[in-house]
Amino acid sequence: RDNRTRCSVVISYGGKRVLVDTTPELRIQCVARGVDHVDAVVFTHAHADHIMGLDDVRRFNAIAKRPLDIFADAQTHAVLQRSFEYAFEEPRREQKVFRPHLVPKLIAGPFDLFGQTWTPIKMIHGDLTVLGFRIGNLAYCTDASFIPRESMELLRGVEVLVLDALQHKKHPTHLTIAESLAVVEELRPRQAWFTHMSHQVRHAETEAMLPPNVRLAYDGLVISSDLPIG
Ligand SMILES: [Zn+2]
Ligand SMILES: [Zn+2]
Repeated sequence: RDNRTRCSVVISYGGKRVLVDTTPELRIQCVARGVDHVDAVVFTHAHADHIMGLDDVRRFNAIAKRPLDIFADAQTHAVLQRSFEYAFEEPRREQKVFRPHLVPKLIAGPFDLFGQTWTPIKMIHGDLTVLGFRIGNLAYCTDASFIPRESMELLRGVEVLVLDALQHKKHPTHLTIAESLAVVEELRPRQAWFTHMSHQVRHAETEAMLPPNVRLAYDGLVISSDLPIG
């Protein structure tokens, strides 16, 4: 649990799988966990550690034999278009096995994905505004140095909160463990999972210092909820 790859998650409900972010290790992560299809991809922001595995989704295109919807805000789409321009073009027939085929979908507010509302949660990440997401009782909030008041209001009542907590030392673009604990203290979710930790944060010794409802996420973690997601 002290050996971490970058942060991607799959959120599954109603037989559909939504992938959030495509890390540089996406292929390794999917092979390790048997993720053999996804139905859509949602992006939090366009930093390299969250987008550079996007080409790997070509395998999901090939298996499903259809294009894949890519949800992101305007600034993230601009970077995706620049970095993966070829993937947003209709592939010629002979390219279909080795090229992703993506359809851009703009996030401009809450949106429906397979019958579930996804509410974007604006968070400050250094100089950037990035998106967390609330899906029913679950919220996924990676890469934040500050959560504005109106976003805290959108997170109120969440039962499972996944939250950035980089390290103990103050950082310009990420919440520290103490800062994230203060967020948890205010929102009082039933469970909080810290993510995006640096390798200086040792799993066992850090968890021993945390309240029982706050745990450190780890590679391969599966959180299943009996809660209605919406
Ligand atoms: Zn980032
Ligand atoms: Zn990141």
